[in-house]
Amino acid sequence: AERPYIVGNWKMNGTRAMLSEARAIDRAAQRYMKVEVAVAPPYTLIHAVHKEAEQIGVGAQDCHPGAEGAHTGDINASMVADAGAKFVILGHSERRQDHGESNELINAKIESALEAGLRVILCCGESLETRDAGKAESYVLDQLRAALPVFQDPAERLTIAYEPIWAIGTGRTATTDDIAAMHGAIRGLLDETFGEEDSAKVRILYGGSVKPDNARDILAVPEVGGALVGGASLSAESFLGIVVGAS
Ligand code: 13P
Repeated sequence: AERPYIVGNWKMNGTRAMLSEARAIDRAAQRYMKVEVAVAPPYTLIHAVHKEAEQIGVGAQDCHPGAEGAHTGDINASMVADAGAKFVILGHSERRQDHGESNELINAKIESALEAGLRVILCCGESLETRDAGKAESYVLDQLRAALPVFQDPAERLTIAYEPIWAIGTGRTATTDDIAAMHGAIRGLLDETFGEEDSAKVRILYGGSVKPDNARDILAVPEVGGALVGGASLSAESFLGIVVGAS
């Protein structure tokens, strides 16, 4: 199918000392051209990682939806694009939890990112209570319906990341059956939204405790087009172990 997409989300980690890891990831990625590799460092490192990168994509972890102006501490989509970002992760569960981000706000952020020429990785995922209540699929599809704008040509511009909240940073991953079911449901929604032909080109990543030793099994699940990796993306060695699992 599509080229697998392995994206490292560094979250609130990384000083300039991490640039050597970025360089190591970049140089190694040149040996795995069948895999698309990218990292999203914190804002403070986007430009420096972009300058190191010959092969990997560089992105941001968030952006403000507005035009530049009086918003102290905020960074908008055109600013991250100017720093060298080619994509932005939006709607991560940590943004939803720590900053109360609503689907409506995420929708506005997506519009602003597309306008600035950025690709978007839209995150979704349910809590453990929601899963235990048997409502995981409807919850995730509702998140996507509410956040996704309708736009032309999603193939080059949109990636979805399914990240069950209870699997993030816990060492616990969803079962391959659960991942297959959720990714299948998300594909159905993308088919309805964009039509099957365009939907087929939108990759759906899995995220949540992806490590070198489970990456190959997870990436073999139908409709899993790659991984969004937190903790294991902070060292070149473990991140590349996941890239190898995708190749
Ligand atoms: P971990 O890989 O650390 O579980 O984080 C997943 C994630 O939230 C990536 O965005």
